[in-house]
Amino acid sequence: MFKAIFVEKDGEKGQKATLTELDDSKLPEGDVTVKVEFSTLNYKDGLALTGKSPVLRAFPIIPGIDLAGVVEESSNPDFKPGDRVAITGCGIGEKYFGGLSQKARVKSDWLVPLPSSLSTRDAMAIGTAGFTAMLSVLALERHGLTPKTDLPVLVTGANGGVGSFAIALLADLGFKVTASTGRTAEADYLRKLGATDIIDRNELSSPGKPLGKERWAAVVDSVGSHTLANACATTVTAGAVAACGLAQGMDFPATVAPFILRGVALLGIDSVNCPRASRLEAWRRLGAAVKPSWFESIARDISLAEAQTVAAEILAGKVRGRVVVDVNR
Ligand code: NDP
Repeated sequence: MFKAIFVEKDGEKGQKATLTELDDSKLPEGDVTVKVEFSTLNYKDGLALTGKSPVLRAFPIIPGIDLAGVVEESSNPDFKPGDRVAITGCGIGEKYFGGLSQKARVKSDWLVPLPSSLSTRDAMAIGTAGFTAMLSVLALERHGLTPKTDLPVLVTGANGGVGSFAIALLADLGFKVTASTGRTAEADYLRKLGATDIIDRNELSSPGKPLGKERWAAVVDSVGSHTLANACATTVTAGAVAACGLAQGMDFPATVAPFILRGVALLGIDSVNCPRASRLEAWRRLGAAVKPSWFESIARDISLAEAQTVAAEILAGKVRGRVVVDVNR
């Protein structure tokens, strides 16, 4: 038996999430069984647990788009019992049983072996959010961005999981970072992560002009909507914007002006379907870059029983940084 959050259909459109004990026979097919140690709550998990948006595409299901733990059984020679592994995305917690559970049976294609510098708890403090921030930085680097630039890199949704890691990773690489936030009272936290400047997100969140003063060498945007449009309109000629989120909205009310008059590149970031080679590269870079001191300020721990309450807080924009779920607490 193992403990897990189990979400079942409730009526035509509703759903019901309960913390329950399940039998191993409930585990799906897969070539690796993982004793889960930690999971995490991302924005998407907030949507899944509350049912506020239809992110769950199979019922019944164990939610949780991330997990980290130790291999218990494996029929794939690449993984053996005792190996420390993690999964982010790949459809777990949406289509397939996910990480808010003490046990998971998964496809080995989804697993990444953890770098030796990262514990399973570190991996979940990073989770999909930190992984997405790393993918965004890698995409900007591939576009040619280097810390030699005079202008700062803008990070929107700064207090969120993606935003917090984007700030820390960029600052660690030597970039000047401007953090855009609705919570300017958290300035100390953002500066500690490495933000050089902090702006109120209201500066970017309303309808703006097709082009504005060139302010940013590049952007990591986890907010979408007018914020993304304004970020593109104020990015330097030949700069790039990594679009990875929709915390303000899924719309993109922009003009093509930044793209055709300044050659700005809009780079889409998809952490769920990210190819395995990029996945391994991002975890290698995270293993080398991430400092234990980041976790002290970015991450806090909760139990499986607290997950549903905290899920609602994430959607209300009340959670700073990352929430790690200790599934055995
Ligand atoms: P969080 O909830 O941790 O952070 C989101 C942040 O966005 C908040 O902390 C807040 O930052 C800001 N925000 C919230 N509401 C608004 C609003 N109405 N207008 C402007 N800013 C707002 O979420 P994550 O960091 O985990 O994820 C961020 C986004 O990225 C989500 O939309 C998520 O779905 C998406 N995402 C996409 C991935 C991909 O593969 N492309 C992977 C991971 C996440 P502040 O208080 O500082 O203003």
